[in-house]
Amino acid sequence: MNSVAVFCGARSGGDPDFADDARELGRLIAERGSRLVYGGGNVGLMGVIADAALDAGGEITGVIPRSMVEVELAHIGVEDMRVVESMLERKELIAGISDVFVCLPGGVGTLDELFEVVTWNQLRLHDKPVTLINTNGFYDELWTFLQRAAGLGLILPHTMAQLSLAETPAHALELLEAYTPA
Ligand code: AMP
Repeated sequence: MNSVAVFCGARSGGDPDFADDARELGRLIAERGSRLVYGGGNVGLMGVIADAALDAGGEITGVIPRSMVEVELAHIGVEDMRVVESMLERKELIAGISDVFVCLPGGVGTLDELFEVVTWNQLRLHDKPVTLINTNGFYDELWTFLQRAAGLGLILPHTMAQLSLAETPAHALELLEAYTPA
C-alpha cells in the first residue's frame, strides 16, 4: 500500500465534516509514509486533502488533464504533477500507479472514477480494493443499491468483495490494509 488514490469532490459540499475527513485522510496517508495520488486540483475537497498531506510532510502525485491546468485549477504545491491529455488517460494513470482506492464524498466526477476502477476489477484488469468513506452516511443509499444489485446477481461476488464501506478515514486505511485478493 505504497500509493493511495483518493477520489473526492472538486467542491466542498454542504457538510463541514466532509472537509474534516479529507484533512484527516490526507494527514494519515502522509503519516503512514504512503504517497497520495489524486486528481491534482486545488479546489474543494481535493485541495483540502492535498494541503493536509503536504502539511504533514507527505508525498503527492497529481494527475491532471491539460485543459484543467490551463484554467489554473492545478495545485501549485504538488511537485509531481503529471499532465495528461484526457480524463480517460488520467483515470488509467491513477489506477496504474496506485495500490488502493479511497472515495471521500463527491459528485459525478468521483462516482465516475469509482465505477471505472470497480469495472476494471470486474473485468479482472486489476484486483485493487476500493473503500468508500461514509461521512455522516453520505454513501448509505449507494451502498444499499450496490448490495441490491449484487443480491440480484448483477454484480459478481468477487467485485463486491473488493469494495468496502468505512466509517472514518482511519477505518478506511485499516480495511484496505486487511484486504487480500480472493
Ligand atoms: P466531482 O466529484 O464531480 O466534484 O469531481 C471530482 C473528481 O473529478 C476528482 O476526483 C477529480 O479527479 C475530477 N475533477 C473534477 N473537477 C476537477 C478540477 N477542477 N480539478 C481537478 N480535478 C477535477
